[in-house]
Amino acid sequence: MARRIGSRYTAHQILGRGSAGTVWLGEGPEGPVAIKLLREDLSSDQELVGRFVQERTALLGLEHPHVVSVRDLVVDGNDLALVMDLVRGTDLRTRLDRERRLAPEAAVAIAADVADGLAAAHAAGVVHRDVKPENVLLDMQGPLGPGGSHRALLTDFGVAKLIDTPRRTRASKIIGTPDYLAPEIVEGLPPRAAVDIYALATVLYELLAGFTPFGGGHPGAVLRRHVTETVVPLPGIPDELWQLLVQCLAKAPASRLRASELAARLRELLPLLAGMPPLDVDEPDTEPAEDTSEELSGAAPAAERTVRRRGAVPLVPGAKPSDSNRDTHTSMRVPAPDELAGGAHGTARAPRAAGAPRPGSARNRAVTRRRRLTLAAAATLVTAAAVGTWLATAEDTPPPPRDQKNSAPATP
Ligand code: ADP
Ligand code: MG
Repeated sequence: MARRIGSRYTAHQILGRGSAGTVWLGEGPEGPVAIKLLREDLSSDQELVGRFVQERTALLGLEHPHVVSVRDLVVDGNDLALVMDLVRGTDLRTRLDRERRLAPEAAVAIAADVADGLAAAHAAGVVHRDVKPENVLLDMQGPLGPGGSHRALLTDFGVAKLIDTPRRTRASKIIGTPDYLAPEIVEGLPPRAAVDIYALATVLYELLAGFTPFGGGHPGAVLRRHVTETVVPLPGIPDELWQLLVQCLAKAPASRLRASELAARLRELLPLLAGMPPLDVDEPDTEPAEDTSEELSGAAPAAERTVRRRGAVPLVPGAKPSDSNRDTHTSMRVPAPDELAGGAHGTARAPRAAGAPRPGSARNRAVTRRRRLTLAAAATLVTAAAVGTWLATAEDTPPPPRDQKNSAPATP
């Protein structure tokens, strides 16, 4: 069922679906392409149309082996389509769903590729703002890299932003995907390159562990964890890799590495990780979501408050209620400081090594006590350093420039 898109392209079959449209395998004058077509029922949605145009604009002139290039923007009757380089393979979410966890070498090789792509974007003045496994494509036709990994390419610059877009006020609306949102965004600061580093470190953690460090439950609860909780070490993770993750998941944006440095440091670790099997970690046990979560985004009925519950805040009217913490949200507001302070401070849900005792058992209490002493000492040091710099950074932030063009998400 071929379909004409403008005068130059034909769409043949569906490759994938995103929040706002469908990506097709297509044909253009220069051969096969990928065509992202905005859903027809959404073509009157100014925000989504804006995203398509934004994606094209953000990528103009950005050619990089780890970034999916946009070739064309087609406006034809009701059709709005982005024409991109075709990546023959799959997206990282699909691979992760299939394998659950990747071997550290493969995970790190992929993260290093994405870091390279981000370095190019950041050098061009663009913050991606939506780094997550869904937006990383794996080229399965090219040569294999370290650990048998396929070349990874960053795609979907739909909510990307020019880094220095001046803004008058602090952001009051959050754009991004809850599981991957840097704490400074939750706090209303304008997104800088460091938000992408935080998101990428979250992706790397997820590739290694099989779950994100602060995910689970209502989006509001997830946002609060980014601000208040400390990431817990993954059992069996090599220390050098863990240190990199901790640094890039720092609450203080200034403490995180820059993309090019992260790429280099990750690649340095590859020989150390060669041949290592996937980590043996169990997903943390489910626990009831905290009460205040509902107030933060005001969208989920109380009955839905169970853990690992998904689908609370659909982005697009009529969208299927999938895993909403993995969808790009544009409907969340920045929580007030008292809302953020309302929950438990401390560490994120602790991952269990496979076969380790369940929380609450006698054996576990003894093990926990011993381990807690060591971990707490380490975690406190890291948090103290991170939070210290974080506060300092927040206070040092110079007043934003006064003129305002092109401001990011509108204040409601
Ligand atoms: P959205 O903006 O709607 O989230 P994405 O650009 O993330 O759309 O694409 C959605 C899915 O379509 C991806 O997760 C991937 O599976 C597939 N896809 C996107 N771009 C390409 C491409 N250039 N080549 C091959 N598949 C693609
Ligand atoms: Mg996407």
